[in-house]
Amino acid sequence: MTTIETVTGRRPVSELGITLMHEHLLIGWPGWESDTAAPRYDRAEVRRKCVDRMAGLKQLGLGTLLDPCPIDLGRDVELAAEVAQATGVNIVCATGLYKEDQGAAPYFRFRSAFTDVVSEMTETFVRELTEGIGSSGIKAGVIKVATGKGQITAYERMVLTAAARAHKETGAPITTHTEEGTMGREQIDVLTAEGVSPQRIVVGHSCGSADLRYHTDMLDRGAYLGFDRFGLEIAQPDRLRLAALIGLLGIGFDKQIVLSHDSVWCWRGRPFDLPEHILPKWRPTHLFEEIVPALRGAGVPQEKIDNLLVHNPRRYFER
Ligand SMILES: [Zn+2]
Repeated sequence: MTTIETVTGRRPVSELGITLMHEHLLIGWPGWESDTAAPRYDRAEVRRKCVDRMAGLKQLGLGTLLDPCPIDLGRDVELAAEVAQATGVNIVCATGLYKEDQGAAPYFRFRSAFTDVVSEMTETFVRELTEGIGSSGIKAGVIKVATGKGQITAYERMVLTAAARAHKETGAPITTHTEEGTMGREQIDVLTAEGVSPQRIVVGHSCGSADLRYHTDMLDRGAYLGFDRFGLEIAQPDRLRLAALIGLLGIGFDKQIVLSHDSVWCWRGRPFDLPEHILPKWRPTHLFEEIVPALRGAGVPQEKIDNLLVHNPRRYFER
């Protein structure tokens, strides 16, 4: 029986159910601690908000949520465990590091002049996957990597290489962040050069591009694509995400795409409550309320929708 590490222990992948593959309970951009005039971080309120949202998702049938917050983006895996416990929804958390321009690159970048930083990163990722995160006893279930727009920096390449090596050692799958629908193919190149099979990679935010050649290049190699920013219409309108998704489903790629919103429920630092009119659809229920009905309206059969939401996440997590 194949199992996956969740924040509340190992679960059989066959029991994950409907799975959102990229949502964030909590984000804190590196440097949030420097905003010392910000109101005190109210963890109880954050917890209440997350439990509330997760309970709403559970009512819509959600079984599992992947929160791919890397180490350096304000991650709180104990919060995730409390939310999972309170709601009964499985949460899978991540190890890994964010892209150079918005992550906490200075530490490893400084060390890289003197030491083998890839080995140090690999050791960190493996420890979080096998022994646990800090003293929490909670183990990461996936490895997160990220690249910026139009290039993979030397630092990001080190993170990708370390992720590949940690994957080889542990079998944990890899999920990525891409910027504006660029560099997905190059991410696959770097990871597969280290021996990762494309079937163990989700190229995240692939819906940031509507270029079907970009998509099929990666799908033909066997990778999963994350159509995981539904509702984030500042980055890309939903109708373009949907047009690409429906097209790819129509030519038989329903077994290699996973869905989500990349929603952020709480922020560290100063409150960051966007006015409702700016991103009215960027909420973690949007897929169930509007996108799945839109797929049905376009004639996508239920069997393919089940692949996107249930079977593809399960296959990706399977070792
Ligand atoms: Zn994200």
